[in-house]
Amino acid sequence: MNKVIRFQAVLSLAGISKADGPFDDEQILTSCPACGARQTLGQADVRLEAGQTRYRCKNDCQDVAFVSDRSPAEFGYKLGSYVFRNLCDVFLLVRGNIVQAPAAHKLAAEIDQPGPTSAADDLSSRAAG
Ligand SMILES: [Zn+2]
Repeated sequence: MNKVIRFQAVLSLAGISKADGPFDDEQILTSCPACGARQTLGQADVRLEAGQTRYRCKNDCQDVAFVSDRSPAEFGYKLGSYVFRNLCDVFLLVRGNIVQAPAAHKLAAEIDQPGPTSAADDLSSRAAG
């Protein structure tokens, strides 16, 4: 990856949208594992580093989410050509309902084998629902 790809773009490219249009990082909520601050992905600082888009806590604690286009050796949400990995739960508002995307490492703990594809299907179906 040689440019910043935001999570909102990953969702769009994967064909996942809300009834009223594409997702917006400004309306996707997560929190920081270090300071606990709730923030939207739009509030987090975004940069390209080591071929990944990295969202850094708005308080500059640490990175809170990542977008990569590598085949996922590590767990995460595989969405189209990209993998999204979040350190804390992510919440999206879909048709007035809050949809939760659990932190990627929780998914790995819940299932026997890390299954990015099934995780993506799950997220897709939740977003579509
Ligand atoms: Zn923080």
